[in-house]
Amino acid sequence: MPKNRRPLIAGNWKMNGFKADGQALANALAERMQSETDPAFDMLVCPPFTLIAGIGETIDGCGIALGAQDCHAAAKGAHTADISAAMLSDLGCQYVIVGHSERRTDHGETDLEVKAKAEAAQACGLTAIICIGETEQQRDDGKTFDVVKTQLSGSIPDAAVASNTVIAYEPVWAIGTGRTPSNDEVQEVHALIRDGLSQALGEDQAAAVRILYGGSMKPENARELIALPDVDGGLIGGASLKAEDFWAIAECCEKRWSSGA
Ligand code: PEP
Repeated sequence: MPKNRRPLIAGNWKMNGFKADGQALANALAERMQSETDPAFDMLVCPPFTLIAGIGETIDGCGIALGAQDCHAAAKGAHTADISAAMLSDLGCQYVIVGHSERRTDHGETDLEVKAKAEAAQACGLTAIICIGETEQQRDDGKTFDVVKTQLSGSIPDAAVASNTVIAYEPVWAIGTGRTPSNDEVQEVHALIRDGLSQALGEDQAAAVRILYGGSMKPENARELIALPDVDGGLIGGASLKAEDFWAIAECCEKRWSSGA
């Protein structure tokens, strides 16, 4: 059965890059995107907060979407150094990553907080990319399914719909390590996530939500991963910092949907 979802290739630049590096990367991607007449993918870059405004200007109008790596759950107020979803929207962001495992680990973010951030993002018209995934210990203990199900149901807003929600399955042990689950294991978890989405949002919305795989995706493994029935693109860290690698991953997407996402 053809997948009716347009792949999303999303770059999470994390805490990398100064103005010049970011501009060079964005320029190289924008140039490639502009020469595409009918790309088989949507492309998104999520620079660090310091670069969002500048990169937004560089990619403006070229067909690459702009996103951020986190937002605060509150609309405004006394939250020193935090950034609200409305501020991101004001800069031209269309997406924001929430609940990345590095936020969950480094900042102790809970499912409840991730859900509140996703709600804040959606209320501002942003699409929330909600990250979930098990640690190596949890996988070794046979708890992957339980962890993923709990994180999903705890992190997804009640009013989420496919047009404002993307799920990223990122096994924590695969992030930045060069290791990945087998293709079968990835598909198994993505199918479980889609099933969980069905219960939370209903079957029609669940069928339309894009579920990205993240964790050491690179040009060498992207084609097989993206071709899996319930994988709708990638959330890419390390390989998104090199234009040629990020672009090569995007080129692994094939036209396999019967209409636009
Ligand atoms: C990430 O942190 O979202 C990620 C997937 O990183 P990497 O591609 O470097 O594993």
